[in-house]
Amino acid sequence: MFEQRLARLRARLSERELDGILISGETNVRYLTGFTGDSAYALVTPDAAVVLCDRRYEEQLAAECPQWQHRIRGPAISLLDFTVQELAGMGKARLGFEQEHLSYQAASSLYSGLKDIQLAACSGDVERLRMVKDADELKLIRTAIAQAEEAYRVVCGGLRSGDTELEISWRLEDAIRRAGGSGCSFPPIVAADGHAALPHATPRREPLAGHSLLLVDWGALNQGYASDLTRVIALGPPSEKLREVHRIVHEAQAAAFAAVRSGVPRADIDRAARDVIRGHGYGDCFSHALGHGIGRQVHEVPRLAEGQTELLEAGMVITLEPGIYLPGWGGVRLEDDILVTDHGAERLSSLPLDLEAQTVIW
Ligand code: ZN
Ligand code: ZN
Repeated sequence: MFEQRLARLRARLSERELDGILISGETNVRYLTGFTGDSAYALVTPDAAVVLCDRRYEEQLAAECPQWQHRIRGPAISLLDFTVQELAGMGKARLGFEQEHLSYQAASSLYSGLKDIQLAACSGDVERLRMVKDADELKLIRTAIAQAEEAYRVVCGGLRSGDTELEISWRLEDAIRRAGGSGCSFPPIVAADGHAALPHATPRREPLAGHSLLLVDWGALNQGYASDLTRVIALGPPSEKLREVHRIVHEAQAAAFAAVRSGVPRADIDRAARDVIRGHGYGDCFSHALGHGIGRQVHEVPRLAEGQTELLEAGMVITLEPGIYLPGWGGVRLEDDILVTDHGAERLSSLPLDLEAQTVIW
């Protein structure tokens, strides 16, 4: 798999007429090399693949990325100065660097230290490769989803009216670890009633008693790969309002799911969900984009939003997460993880979507 990733990056280098690219984003270095440590850059040229790192990681590099050349610095020189020194000796004419993953200060050092090399500020090259998942990645994501779902079942099965939002978020993390995950892919959002009207609410020391709905947005991290799910739980018999809003959000997600297919502009998927919510008069209450890619990061490209004219491709893993937020009342968001295929979409998450399955009677 790592060889294929390298081959795809090299194809991009020749498209861009670059003699090499310096990869400094930690997630990108990990994706390309398999190295799980930090403080490392990767240099890829048509005929070389080099990890620049330091002595602490010598043994780990040998174990995790034996196909790569390793250049090891001592403690007396910084990674940046070492990189400039190594690059200066390589005789490359045109070299790309990742402008999103290098500070202004670091880029300035490259420019001042490498006057004979033409530097090109690149953007999103590895991120674009990461959008389409290979078989190894899909397996890890499927397991991350299974761990999150297992944790949700355990935690929801034990909900009590005295539990606070914060305790529930801790229990989710505990249950994810017990299910085999290395932790949460992001701090869980656990929000009751009016607090759930904030799409990114922070859990409070607020007991569930006296509230009527609970929004839970959580995910597991499995060997570096994330899942990301949202469900809304009725605390007691659901009100007519909750049933109505939940039904519309469910319908919006189903419309988006039906529109997903390789070759469709990303904005069309957002529009499919948004049209349903607008049609029911809640257009102003869906305040965020429909979804995003998941993988090594919980939020990565592609974005599913208005104005995104690029096309979906088979092998992308995306979230579909329409929501309706009503200040003072609460919010409903339903989020699932979806694999884009040539003929449509596969729902990778399997928790039921209907409100009846998410109702807790004390
Ligand atoms: Zn989420
Ligand atoms: Zn999400």
